[in-house]
Amino acid sequence: MQMILCRAVPKAMASFPRPRKGTELCVWPGMGQLCLRKNLLYGFMRLFSMPFKTVRTVTRTIGGVSHFCSVTNMSSSLEVELVPCLTDNYAYLLHDMDTGTVGVVDPSEAVPIIDALSRKNWNLNYILNTHHHYDHTGGNMDLKERYGAKVIGSGLDKERIPGIDIALDDGDKWMFASHEVLVMATPGHTTGHISFYFPGSKSVFTGDTLFSLSCGKLFEGTPEQMLSSLRKITSLPDDTNVYCGHEYTLSNSKFALSIEPRNEELKSYATHVAQLRNKGLPTIPTSLRKEKLCNPFLRTSSTEIRKSLNIPESADDADALGAIRRAKDNF
Ligand SMILES: [Zn+2]
Repeated sequence: MQMILCRAVPKAMASFPRPRKGTELCVWPGMGQLCLRKNLLYGFMRLFSMPFKTVRTVTRTIGGVSHFCSVTNMSSSLEVELVPCLTDNYAYLLHDMDTGTVGVVDPSEAVPIIDALSRKNWNLNYILNTHHHYDHTGGNMDLKERYGAKVIGSGLDKERIPGIDIALDDGDKWMFASHEVLVMATPGHTTGHISFYFPGSKSVFTGDTLFSLSCGKLFEGTPEQMLSSLRKITSLPDDTNVYCGHEYTLSNSKFALSIEPRNEELKSYATHVAQLRNKGLPTIPTSLRKEKLCNPFLRTSSTEIRKSLNIPESADDADALGAIRRAKDNF
């Protein structure tokens, strides 16, 4: 993709300090780490307690626990590292290997992010917020003060996102080093919720809009808005990796199975999810292909789901989504 092939550092980035290169590239005890590659992956990865996931364009390989990591001599690429926060939140560290630019998506709290950055000897250039909730922005001010990072969020939430510097709106393009980022308004959970799509890395950060096997609660929006937001996200390619804000997949799978028990793909995925969680491993990223096959909120036309929840055939998809959401809220 264009973003990968372009190796020039955008002007806006040029003033940002280049972080020092550490020698320990991938040793983060207790964390999952994901690397997104356009071209060949030459390195090995190590973690003390969690496997390393590698995404190379379309292919995702989940490796076993290994004990060595060195990533060298890469062409332009974006690393994504999952950082567990609070009880079930995920923040994501983004690292452009060409320029050393580092970002974090939805830092619930500062300490796990500081720890992760310290291990790598990395600076932090950007904080990306999908929405204003405290469990997605709680680390903003501490991280901004410590690293001088710029905070990026929705223009609709300028008053609600702590420390916001760069306000972006639906359809805006922004560059993370040489990586193009498309901002998608995805309201429903909150009115100003946005998702960040990295087309060159086939990845979307969906915050609390799309979870694996569920969607966010409708705190500020309507079923119609959520349906529209989910459709926007699912219009991306099926092999898009979905990085959401929470590890809810196991409990979501129980609800999904309760209303669509004959969905074989869902049954298989639920089993896999349970195995991962039994090992303490993350279920994220998921893929849009998987979600389309299994996620009840993307399956509002499913006859089985509608029968389970007494949703009439005549109900439109927004009504069905609302009914599924209410059933989940009471599950
Ligand atoms: Zn939220």
